[in-house]
Amino acid sequence: MRRLRLAILAIAVAGGLVLSGAPTRAAQDLLFGGGAVTGVYFKAVLYACNIVNKVSDGKYNCIGRPGLGSVFNVNAVSRGLLDFGVVQSDVNFQAFTGQGEWENKPVENLRSLFSLHSETVLLITRADTGINSVDDIRGHDVNLGNPGSGARVNAEQVLALYGIDVEKDIRSGGLQQNEANQALIDGKIEAFFYTVGNPAFAIEDIADAVDIRIIPIDSEAVRAFVAERPYLVLTEVPGGLYRGVDQGVPTFGVKATVVTRAEMSDEVVTDFVSMIFGNLDELRESYPVFENLEPAEMMRGLSAPLHPAAQAWYQAQGLL
Ligand code: GLU
Repeated sequence: MRRLRLAILAIAVAGGLVLSGAPTRAAQDLLFGGGAVTGVYFKAVLYACNIVNKVSDGKYNCIGRPGLGSVFNVNAVSRGLLDFGVVQSDVNFQAFTGQGEWENKPVENLRSLFSLHSETVLLITRADTGINSVDDIRGHDVNLGNPGSGARVNAEQVLALYGIDVEKDIRSGGLQQNEANQALIDGKIEAFFYTVGNPAFAIEDIADAVDIRIIPIDSEAVRAFVAERPYLVLTEVPGGLYRGVDQGVPTFGVKATVVTRAEMSDEVVTDFVSMIFGNLDELRESYPVFENLEPAEMMRGLSAPLHPAAQAWYQAQGLL
């Protein structure tokens, strides 16, 4: 009995020594904001944070957060609620220059880090709705994307370009994307807009459940709109990615970009970009949408100025 008590005491003392041993520096939290859980942004922040947590060896605790999307991420990053965020290049431009949501209120402390994948503006319907063109959505239930998403910004642009009145011509919804996916499958809505990288798991999932159609977004007005904006491109949703969609579908697109704020420390920014660029292969392998990420291309589509520490690091690497 005495021996047992001594043994317990020894364990307690040893445990106490470990607990009260040299204090280890607490990891610094980095909050990286993405989008809906079924989208690509959320994948990007999860996989990027995996890299940071693995490579930084306890220096950082990077947390990939789901969220409302581009518009929300700009505001949250600017106000210090997030450290990094994924934001569409067009939303990034609007925010920094004070347009759209930020009319006369430019987000002056917004800073770019790098771009990720390309995204396309999608209008998706079930094959049984009779919707074959953007004009056909009149009179239908159509989800535009949740407030705070970049997708909703693009949906409203498309409606304006086709002369469709949000209030009078359609019954518009503001569901988050995971709910919109289910609502389309269940027949509660007839179509939705979504701006996302391809192949998006969310869309593959719907295409496997029901027959879908991706509607072309292509008109004189669309082409003129894109031509006036350097951060937009005419592109297509490649054929063969989603069940039943064998031909490419014309639309316009943006880039997903990663932003921070001017106040973010040089040390954190340098660590972050060097860890991501130093482990790009791992990011490429993590998800098909990231397969073709190339450093030179990741310097493009950045509408807000680069954070100076990122710029210095890219210059030292010969990327700029
Ligand atoms: N581009 C979308 C947005 O900002 C998000 C797409 C995604 O989550 O992959 O609303």
